Amino acid sequence: MKKLIFLPFLFFLLSCQIQNQNKIITVTGEINAKEIGITLGHEHVLVDFIGAEKVSADRYNQDTAFHQILPYLNELEEHGVKTFVECTPSYLGKDVTLLKRLSKETGINFITNTGFYGAFDNKFIPQHVLGMTAEMIAQFWIAEFEQGIDGTGIRPGFIKIAVDRKPLSEFHASLARAAALAHKETGLTIMSHTGPAVGAFQQLEILNEEGVSPEAFIWTHASNEEDWLKLVEAAQMGCWISLDKYGWSEEALKGETLAYLKEQNVLDKVLISHDAGWYEPGKPERKFKSYTPIFKILIPNLKEKGFTEEDINLLLVENPAKAFTMKKRLQ
Ligand SMILES: [Zn+2]
Repeated sequence: MKKLIFLPFLFFLLSCQIQNQNKIITVTGEINAKEIGITLGHEHVLVDFIGAEKVSADRYNQDTAFHQILPYLNELEEHGVKTFVECTPSYLGKDVTLLKRLSKETGINFITNTGFYGAFDNKFIPQHVLGMTAEMIAQFWIAEFEQGIDGTGIRPGFIKIAVDRKPLSEFHASLARAAALAHKETGLTIMSHTGPAVGAFQQLEILNEEGVSPEAFIWTHASNEEDWLKLVEAAQMGCWISLDKYGWSEEALKGETLAYLKEQNVLDKVLISHDAGWYEPGKPERKFKSYTPIFKILIPNLKEKGFTEEDINLLLVENPAKAFTMKKRLQ
């Protein structure tokens, strides 16, 4: 009799243990979320804006790109950066073998993505994808999650989509639905390049219809929304707020938005990054944007505003660890 009671208890303990093993998928394999360390949640090493019809790895020499990017990644060592979320989507120059090389060389974890980028009127969406249903698109992303990207065996750590800065078109709504369907299957977090609040709340509504929690959604480029109350509203729903343009304007580096979000008690839903980089094929003269203004300018400014080490740790370590953990987050 005692044994019969003991067995279910043992299974309960075991299942708790499995649930505690929160994993994040990097280009070199899975890591425990606890190992993520200081993380830049939205950066790029290589982007090609030529468009879906012409984009190709033949447009650049990977060695040349590798050597141009490397010094900027090496600058991150003194700031203790352990994880770099590379947000370049498919058909915009995502090169996962390059990411793996850079990861091996620097010891930094790289996280890459599956997904489709609809912003800029679908310039980066191939024609055949425009005719696909949300279910078909989701199946394609799920296959990449299971088998790896383009036959490399390198698996995506999140789903990246993008919508235009206006109410969602039918196809962009379909991308959000596909992301929700793929999330339910994989537990991958959905990162959506979104402008102002209107598109963000519409996407959260689609997730809601599919039974997916706002906790599974990162509102990328949320800094494009001028009404900060909307950021608070989304954060209170559970959505991740990505302020990822640090370094693009001196004004933002003062840290006013973050001070406001701290005052509103939603700092535990905020991610920060630069959206910086990158090597651009065919544009050797392009100036590379550094990945360090957060460490050199923003953090000292935040400390002057009364931010503690715990607050900084929340923004750069704990929040990304939670946001990028592979976990089904359902309503
Ligand atoms: Zn970006």
